[in-house]
This record gives sequence, C-alpha cells and structure tokens, in this order.
Amino acid sequence: MAKIDSSTKVLGLIGDPVSGSLSPRLQNRVIDRLGLNYRYFAFPVAEGDVKEAVVGAKGLGLKGLNVTVPHKKTVAEYVDSKSRAARITGSVNTITFAEEGEIEGDNTDWKGFLKSLELHGFDPRGKRCLVFGAGGAAAGVVYGLVRRGARRIVIVNRTESKGVELARKMEGLSPGVDLDVRPLTGSDIEKRIERSDLVLNATSVGMGATEGEAIWEGKSCFRSGQLVYDLIYNPSPTEFLKLAGDGGAETIDGLDMLILQGLESLKKWTGEEFESGELVDELRRCLRA
Ligand code: NAP
Repeated sequence: MAKIDSSTKVLGLIGDPVSGSLSPRLQNRVIDRLGLNYRYFAFPVAEGDVKEAVVGAKGLGLKGLNVTVPHKKTVAEYVDSKSRAARITGSVNTITFAEEGEIEGDNTDWKGFLKSLELHGFDPRGKRCLVFGAGGAAAGVVYGLVRRGARRIVIVNRTESKGVELARKMEGLSPGVDLDVRPLTGSDIEKRIERSDLVLNATSVGMGATEGEAIWEGKSCFRSGQLVYDLIYNPSPTEFLKLAGDGGAETIDGLDMLILQGLESLKKWTGEEFESGELVDELRRCLRA
C-alpha cells in the first residue's frame, strides 16, 4: 500500500449502509496499481445528513465522492452543476469537487454499463432490449441503450407509472428508438423476452431478502443467441441468471459494471487516462476473493 502523507488526496463513498460495499477495495487497488497519492474511504451517511456530508467534504478538500443507495436522487439537490446524464436520469453517483470550488454531479453508471457490454462483444445498436426495473439503475441502463442506438426498449416494472416516468425522461434523446412500458403482470412479457436480443434485470429482486427469487420465473422464453444481464453481483449467479443460462442464453452479472463505473469516476477525479479493459480481469479476481 502506498504511504499516506500530508498531500494524500481523499476520495470516498457516501450511502447507507456502506459496510458491504466493494468500492473501497476496488478503488484503493487501482490507486495502488497506478501509483497515485489518493485513498478512498466508505462514509456511512444517514438520510438527513446528506447536505452536511457534501458541504463538509468540500470544506475538507476531498477530491470526489461516489454516492450509493439511498442518496443518488437526494444528492442531486446539493450539487452546483449536473452532467446531461445526471440531469436526465435524475441520479448522481459521482461528485467531483472542482478546483474552482464548484460541486459537479455526474452519473457514470451508464458508461460503466456500456463498457461492460463492449467487453462482452455486444453492440446495442439496432438491438431489441427489455429492461426489468425503473429505479436509478434502470435509468442509467436505459439512458445508455438509448444513447448507443438501441432499436427497441421495453421497460417492465412492478409500478407501471414509474416505468412511464422513466420513458418520458428519455423522450427526444434519440428519435429512432421505440420505447414501450409494460407492467410486470402483462400477459405478453414472456413473448417480449423471447424476441429480445438483450434482457436486463435492473431491479433488486434476487439479492438480500429476495435472494433465490427471480424477477421472471419462466425459462422457456430464454434462448441461445440472447444476452441476459443481471445488475446484481452478489449473489452470483442470481436465480434469474441461472434460469436464463438453463434456457441457453449467455449471461453477465453486475460485477463488470460495478468495476467499470468506478473506474470512470476515478478517471474523472484524478484526470488520469488508463485502459480500463486491462484492469477488469485483475479487479474481478480481487473482488471475488
Ligand atoms: P431502486 O431505485 O430502489 O429501484 C428498485 C427497482 O426494483 C424498482 O424498479 C422496483 O420496482 C424494483 N423492485 C424492488 N423490489 C421488487 C419486487 N419485490 N418485485 C418487483 N420489483 C421490485 O434501486 P436501484 O438503485 O435502481 O438498484 C437496483 C439494483 O441494481 C440493485 O440490486 C442494485 O444493487 C443494482 N445496481 C448495480 C449496479 C452495478 O454497478 N452493478 C449499479 C447500480 C445498481 P417499483 O418501482 O415497483 O418499486
């Protein structure tokens, strides 16, 4: 580990809880690998303390913060400027404290997601996609798919109105994309899954209290030639990915996206340019250990 001295720059993560987060291990490993004089810490921040945490971090001269559940929306109120992705998705996962004193809010989830698809040789351009979920993570994924030229995106969510709201945010971004919203109980979901090139779980079903459950239980709709992606990385594989794999689909868990969105944040804070692809294998091994 690199030594900590009076010029070490501080980075961190705010959320509640943060105790199980892989981000400190991930970021400090990369910081060491690149020989940077930075350290990354996890700060548990309760719901009512988000503003004080952000203002305090600026006052202490931190370089940047990642933001996780449940603060990604709230924190957007306390930044001075937002990137286009943060504005459209309504979700900030990266804060940068700029030299000039401005607090910048960005969303790197969508970039990490697209890079993970690239790594697996999948180009969303012209593809038919189905996304389960309409929360913060789904917003990043749908934004990425729209930006990368997907042909059709079906958003399937338990609360249909949230799906409609998410689709509305994407309006006008890419006139070529056909966006549709369906409730989870829709009778046509099975068929729509079958017709999709890419199927994603961006809900929290499959982890924590719902470990062992899948957002979609049927497996006859999954097929070879299809990519099925679960944003959850613990457990891995989830029940959803097991069903999809049994049906013949290629599967990806959420670890690569977690790694790649983190690397995008680190690039932003440090101004360093490095090849993410090379690091992913090493980080996967380190984080799985
Ligand atoms: P969120 O904003 O709270 O959204 C949760 C989503 O899950 C909503 O669409 C919600 O539907 C749905 N949901 C929750 N419980 C459900 C249930 N029992 N049945 C059906 N749907 C249910 O959370 P988020 O930030 O989007 O995170 C979603 C998942 O993505 C989490 O597992 C998180 O760990 C993962 N994630 C991974 C990465 C990565 O880098 N790999 C990054 C971000 C997030 P309603 O709208 O109906 O409530």
